[in-house]
Amino acid sequence: MLYKTDIAVLGGGAAGLCAAVQMKQLNPRFSVTVFEQLDRVGKKLSTTGNGRCNITNNDLSPARFHGKDPKFSQPLLQKYGGKETADFFESIGILFQFDETGRGYPASLQASSVVDALRFSAEENGVRLKTGCRVENLIPQSGGFVLTLPDEKCFARAVLVTTGLYSGGDKVGSDGKMFRFFKQMGYPTEPVTPAIVQLKTPPESVRALKGVKINGRATLLRNGKALRTESGEILFCDYGLSGPPILQLARPVEREKGNYSIELDLLPAYSEQEIRAILQNRVKQLGNRPAGEFFTGLLQKRVGQVLIKSVGVSFDSPSSCLDRAKLDRLCEWIKSWQFTVTGTTGFLHSQVTAGGLSTESFDANTLASKRHQGLFAAGEILDVDGDCGGFNLQWAWSSGLAAAEAVIRYLEGTVC
Ligand SMILES: Cc1cc2nc3c(=O)[nH]c(=O)nc-3n(C[C@H](O)[C@H](O)[C@H](O)COP(=O)(O)OP(=O)(O)OC[C@H]3O[C@@H](n4cnc5c(N)ncnc54)[C@H](O)[C@@H]3O)c2cc1C
Repeated sequence: MLYKTDIAVLGGGAAGLCAAVQMKQLNPRFSVTVFEQLDRVGKKLSTTGNGRCNITNNDLSPARFHGKDPKFSQPLLQKYGGKETADFFESIGILFQFDETGRGYPASLQASSVVDALRFSAEENGVRLKTGCRVENLIPQSGGFVLTLPDEKCFARAVLVTTGLYSGGDKVGSDGKMFRFFKQMGYPTEPVTPAIVQLKTPPESVRALKGVKINGRATLLRNGKALRTESGEILFCDYGLSGPPILQLARPVEREKGNYSIELDLLPAYSEQEIRAILQNRVKQLGNRPAGEFFTGLLQKRVGQVLIKSVGVSFDSPSSCLDRAKLDRLCEWIKSWQFTVTGTTGFLHSQVTAGGLSTESFDANTLASKRHQGLFAAGEILDVDGDCGGFNLQWAWSSGLAAAEAVIRYLEGTVC
């Protein structure tokens, strides 16, 4: 049997769901079907932002978005920017609220409510949601495409591909099969690597600190050269380092060859000179305290003890045995503690995949394929990825809404 639809949306994730709703809002005449391989739509979306969905960010400046052609995303992020996205979500019942760092969340603080609102709106507007329905391939035909589904074929006049890439793994539908299919079809691609991901270090360098959280500053270095610095809560794990600043820094590690390290500043509020004076004072004032307690009240207890151990002083010796040379080393560690980076924890643990379908094959205003008429793509499958902080979902919304408009104009015959 041949199933027919005007528009086939491949993938019921963030970009696909908002695009499908937008298509129906723009022109209800066209039939729209979303094909989702998992048993329900929006599975990954419902896990975002630790279940709260960091849906956007106040600052959508170009520096927050990456890809081989960093300018590619700009026209779409301007056309469907913060205000247009907020208007779209308000139209389906979701209001935004922003925290002091500029991150936007649904007012409910529930990612599931974003999925529900998109799903309800899709159904209310007459979008057909076909779940448990993996699209195996698509073949261009005159006037459209034939899609191979598990039990049938489908003819669609236009196709929007929003099947994502690898981050989060199979459980959230990120198997990358459609990406590989397009690669086989001859679409040029950019190498795919995990971004927004934890960093691995030699286990012995962090083992003693497993579970410790500090508020500090982290700098990523390649071959000794500082690339980027981020501040916030840093977490020591048995495999290495995690926490928002680390996730934010990780992008280049698997992308560009080199020797990577992370340098931590444990007390960014103080200069090295100030720390030196503080430590010298402590030796004078608290010299009788056991060295194991020397940092009590200044650094996280286990961090302080690891530092004391590193200068070869036993915890029960008096702090007065910390001589000038030892204080200099402690001071250096507090301001620039270096950890060798051996890699990332991989796609499964990453929030976004850098790379994807090369943007050179797609129009920067409409996301129409330059290779196949009637084919469009949006979301993470394209070689655009954003920083941690709501930028990847914003790209899904901006690209999904723009592609939806372009598909409708294409079918209406106003754009070829
Ligand atoms: C744990 C986690 C937390 C995150 N938190 C945030 C956050 O707070 N803020 C933020 O901005 N970003 C966040 N991200 C990133 C963000 O979720 C993604 O960038 C975004 O979902 C990408 O949208 P998409 O529509 O392109 O792809 P997806 O949302 O991945 O959707 C793709 C869909 O296509 C389906 N599919 C794939 N292949 C087929 C096929 N052949 N046939 C049918 N269906 C198919 C998949 O099952 C999936 O449902 C997070 C990611 C993860 C993994």
